[in-house]
Amino acid sequence: MDATIVSVGNELLSGQTLNSNLTYIARRLQALGIFVREAYTIKDEESLIHKALSNVETPLVLFTGGLGLTRDDMTKESICRYYDLPLVKHEPTLEKIEAYFVRSGRTMRKTNIKQAYFPDGAHILGNEVGTAPGMILHVEDKTLITLPGPPKEMQAMFKEVERYLEPYGDKDYHRDGFRLVGRGESELEADLEDFYDEHPSVDIASYANLGEIKYLFISKDKAKLHSAMRAFKKRLKPYIVGSFEETLEGNVVHALKSQGKVVSFAESCTGGMLTSRLVDVPGASSVLKESYILYSNDAKNRQLGVSPKLLEEYGAVSEQAVYEMAYRLKQKTGADISLSISGIAGPEGGSDDKPVGTVYFGVHAGGVTKVHQRLFSGDRSMIRKRAVVHALYLLYKVLVPDADA
Ligand code: AMP
Ligand code: MG
Repeated sequence: MDATIVSVGNELLSGQTLNSNLTYIARRLQALGIFVREAYTIKDEESLIHKALSNVETPLVLFTGGLGLTRDDMTKESICRYYDLPLVKHEPTLEKIEAYFVRSGRTMRKTNIKQAYFPDGAHILGNEVGTAPGMILHVEDKTLITLPGPPKEMQAMFKEVERYLEPYGDKDYHRDGFRLVGRGESELEADLEDFYDEHPSVDIASYANLGEIKYLFISKDKAKLHSAMRAFKKRLKPYIVGSFEETLEGNVVHALKSQGKVVSFAESCTGGMLTSRLVDVPGASSVLKESYILYSNDAKNRQLGVSPKLLEEYGAVSEQAVYEMAYRLKQKTGADISLSISGIAGPEGGSDDKPVGTVYFGVHAGGVTKVHQRLFSGDRSMIRKRAVVHALYLLYKVLVPDADA
């Protein structure tokens, strides 16, 4: 089944809000075997909602946004006027909204009542997180679904939508994939030049994001999908860090946990971002011993005893500096793996020798300290994020040397 998504909201077109509901819904639909054919992003204007409805060609249309209380929120009303469907009060919903206000200790306003009006026959989607309910409505040859704009509310409500849409998905499709790090997208594409032709019945798409690249395989033929995946793995095994759905940091935490190991970090240019990303994973407390943000030379010296002479001679962004940091961090914390990062995130501070984007990593594990150097592209924020991804990749490779994802 194909679907259309209509995102409604002035804020989406003024550049204030990223249309994250679109990617969320499209991804979840695809997992059900429902494919988004078209998407419209429009302002809160009745004529634009009508125009979208008259253009839509798919049997399923999902709307987000415009279910709030303000005058400009009118997605539901506009849809009903388009099909000439009167809105009638839905008592159970009104009671739910009243109860929500009692629970949250706030006063219900008259305008909230409009959220309890629906066309006859609509299936109402309760909102556990806010007040605006959504609906599933069959009208003419279409199924229309309205969802609130705030992502938290929309996502909570989407669970019921998934249960409802599950039977309509195309079950003939199988999908799986890999997550890769450590090689650029263009290099990977060069490696895969003949690969696509060798697997014509498998649709292979790549998604690159700041040093991480996901490859998604979709096919109606399960055996061919698996054979393509096996061939892919054979070619690119060193770069595979997990499946499509897994996260790099999640897999690092998982590997540390299963091996009963702990890590500690000394971060300079990433300023704590590596630690933060690891801590995002539930259960990180059992694998992260401690971290230091050692931005200045003085801090590198005071906290870890890195000699000012070494920093002076080779620079804080150098093989020698990250080697010392990783080695001394191990001595100080006793962690099984210690990792240090120092780099030039820019825009200032680059030289011919060490241009902006140069980042050194020190990794101490199993009694050995190794140093790695990379040159990342992008602006300051991108370089720092890429450095974090690379540090997680180095950790993963230490933990799972023959990465068998
Ligand atoms: P609503 O009252 O239903 O129009 O929702 C408005 C709120 O939801 C605003 O705070 C928006 O920032 C947010 N929002 C609306 N549409 C989207 C969207 N497509 N993606 C992400 N956030 C959105
Ligand atoms: Mg709105």
